[in-house]
Amino acid sequence: MSRTARESSAVWPEGVIARHLTKAAEITGDSTITVDVTETGDEVRAVCRGCGADRLNSIAYSNVTVVPWARAHAESCRALPRPEGS
Ligand SMILES: [Zn+2]
Repeated sequence: MSRTARESSAVWPEGVIARHLTKAAEITGDSTITVDVTETGDEVRAVCRGCGADRLNSIAYSNVTVVPWARAHAESCRALPRPEGS
């Protein structure tokens, strides 16, 4: 099964509360290249699945730091994820 077929399912990983398509996803049409915002316990973390950049914050400040960062990063990131197995 291809990576795209497996990961493009409508089910988001547990804890993911927001997902932004990156610039690279727009260009390549690969909808798996996203910035995921995940809530766990009292922390909110955004991770770019293209370049691996991340941002972590206390849940109390998530809306003023992590969420805008995730949106802004997704709009500008053109990085492609490293192919699996390399
Ligand atoms: Zn990135």
